[in-house]
Amino acid sequence: MTGTTPIIDSASDAERWRLVLARDARADGQFVYAVQTTGVYCRPSCPARRPKRANVNFYTNAYSAELAGYRPCKRCCPAAAITRDDQTVIAVCQTLQGALERLQRLPSAAQLAAEAGLSVSQLQRLFTAALGITINQYAQALRSQQVQQALAAGSAITDAIAAAGYSSTGHFYQKATSELGMPARRYQRQGQAMTIEFAITDTTLGALLVARSDVGICAIALGDNPQVLATELRQRFAGARRVTPSEEFNRQLQQVVALVEQPGARSITLPLDIRGTAFQRRVWQALQSIKPGQTVHYSELAQRIGAPTAARAVANACGANTLAIAIPCHRVVRQDGSLSGYRWGVERKRELLKREADTD
Ligand SMILES: [Zn+2]
Repeated sequence: MTGTTPIIDSASDAERWRLVLARDARADGQFVYAVQTTGVYCRPSCPARRPKRANVNFYTNAYSAELAGYRPCKRCCPAAAITRDDQTVIAVCQTLQGALERLQRLPSAAQLAAEAGLSVSQLQRLFTAALGITINQYAQALRSQQVQQALAAGSAITDAIAAAGYSSTGHFYQKATSELGMPARRYQRQGQAMTIEFAITDTTLGALLVARSDVGICAIALGDNPQVLATELRQRFAGARRVTPSEEFNRQLQQVVALVEQPGARSITLPLDIRGTAFQRRVWQALQSIKPGQTVHYSELAQRIGAPTAARAVANACGANTLAIAIPCHRVVRQDGSLSGYRWGVERKRELLKREADTD
């Protein structure tokens, strides 16, 4: 599945799954669940047989599930809430995804607009308002995702480039550094024999997992269950070789623990291994400029990165952050002052903000 990242908030995922098992109709409209093995997504109350938990992803709405490539279930019709504009954007994304999968030349913006019955500028506006990036940037992100998958699977670099439809290797190498965040050769070396040091320790906010690649800290996660944190890390870096933590890593671990205990007292100076799309990295960079003790709204953050209509896409990028506290996505709140979700549990978000306020 390609497209947007599912909202992963492990604390509330357990709650969502409970609602799905209970077929609780009060949860309809709050989220949908998607089944990887069938490619179908459903309302929580759907009468269909329940899938295995491991095959389920949650999305905040039908729109996000469709962008990720899922089809609506024919029994519970979860797509009813999707607007016409949403449908247009979804159709563009699906056309681009389909062309890439079939290794065809990507249609131009003019072709996509003609198909949608809109002018190019109308379609661009609609698309950018929904996703926060232009059609061209979206196509590039899809390509780069495909390259990353191919490289991680061990294809030769030139095969991966050809598979992603890049016109020339020179063009690819130029793009690769900005989109993968590092040169392709290095990425492939990491995909095959990347080494990871990691440790899980206890903090006053629960279990803390910190992992480091040879580039820098690549995961900071909080949770109730150390086993779950370790499993998530293993899935995310499936090809990596785990090595015994070094002295240096243990010192860095202590710095992260200090950051958890006193998030307002210091800013992180450790090297970070940040992996994400160009748009996600823009959002994360803006997050790092928010001072401890301050909060911003999603719409303010969207303005700061020069995409004022992309609050929804900004919220998705915050939800995709994998470096808790170091990239301070906990400092983003809703317009009405409510905390909104947090990948590592909304109670932890509340506590982090409280600790920062107390430090002032
Ligand atoms: Zn259904």
